Amino acid sequence: MTSAPALEDLIGTAVRDGATALHLLLEGGSVAAMARQGRALAPLGQFKVSAPWLDRAHAHPGAAHMDDRIVIRIDAHGVVRDALAATGIPGTMRKRLHAALELPGGIVVAVGPPAGRRALAEALAEPASYAPWIAGERGPLEAAARMDCDSILVDGLADRAAASLAFDLARMGQRIVIAMDAISAVSAIEQFRAFKVERHLLGAALRAVVAVHAAPRLCPDCRLPVQAKSSESALLGIDPGTVIYRAAGCGCCDGTGYAGTAFVYEAVIVDGQIHGLLAKGADSALLTRQAFLTAPTLAASARVLAREGAITADEAIRITRAGGGGPAAGATHPHILDSAGFRRGLA
Ligand SMILES: [Zn+2]
Repeated sequence: MTSAPALEDLIGTAVRDGATALHLLLEGGSVAAMARQGRALAPLGQFKVSAPWLDRAHAHPGAAHMDDRIVIRIDAHGVVRDALAATGIPGTMRKRLHAALELPGGIVVAVGPPAGRRALAEALAEPASYAPWIAGERGPLEAAARMDCDSILVDGLADRAAASLAFDLARMGQRIVIAMDAISAVSAIEQFRAFKVERHLLGAALRAVVAVHAAPRLCPDCRLPVQAKSSESALLGIDPGTVIYRAAGCGCCDGTGYAGTAFVYEAVIVDGQIHGLLAKGADSALLTRQAFLTAPTLAASARVLAREGAITADEAIRITRAGGGGPAAGATHPHILDSAGFRRGLA
C-alpha cells in the first residue's frame, strides 16, 4: 500500500473530478479515500497514513467526523478552490509558489510543451477575473497594459523589445504570466538573458519559473511491480532492486497499460537567495545548484513518480535525459547524483 499523498493533493484530485466532498474511512493505520460524485462515492485509493496526516485532516476547516470516518466538504463555501492544487503540483512546491505569487506584479513563467504550459500558465494566473492571452510582442503588450488586467497571459516572447517591456511592466506592478518552450526552468531564465533583460530587472521582477512535463500515467489496475534492473537503477539513481512498475493492460485501460496523464514539475522560486544570484548575474550552474538544493528537479520529480508507480522507469529516464541532467550528464546538475540529499530535501 502506498503512503497517502499530501491532504491538499487528495482534495485537489477530488476538486478536479468535480467532487463535493472527500470521505476518509479510517482502518487502523490506513484510510480509504473516496470522492462524493452525485449519489456515489468514487474510490480514490487506500493509503497508509501517519498520525500527523490524520491530525491535519481532522483540523481541516471543512472537516467533520463521526466514528471511523472523516468527511471534508469541498462544495461552494467549503474549501477555497486552489487552481494550483488542481494542476497536481506537489504540496511543498505549491506552498512556496503561493508565497512568491502573493507579491504584487512580477513575471511568472510556465515552461513546457504547448498544451501543458498553457494550462499551467492559466493556473499560475489565478485568482484572476480578467486574464487575456496575447502574443508576446510589444504592441499587444502595450495594449493589454492599458486594459486593467489581473494578469496578462503571454504566449512566448518574440524579441528583445517585448522582453524588455514585459519586465518593465512587471516591475511597475502588472502580473505577467509567460508561457514558453524550454527544456528546464533555468534554461527559460537563460532565454531572458539572451534577450538582454538586465540582471537587476530580472532579480526584481521575476517571481517564479515552473516547468512541466506530461507523461502517460500507468493504469493503477494492471501495472506490474518489478524489481529495477541494475541498468535502470543506475540511470535513475535508485538502489538496485527498488520496486518499479511496468505497463501491462486490462479492461479498464483498453489493454494499453496507461490511463490518463501524470504531470512532472520543477520550480525555480525567486526567494532572497535566488534574487541575489539573479541580480549578480550568476551562471546557470550556480542558479541550478541553489534552486534545487532542497527542491526536486524535473528528473528527481520523475524518479519519485516512477517509484510511486505513476509512470514507468523508462519514462523517468527519458525525462532525466531530456532535461540534460541526471547521472548520465551529472556535471551540470550535480544534485541529481545526490539521491540522499534529494530525500533530505523531500523530508
Ligand atoms: Zn489497466
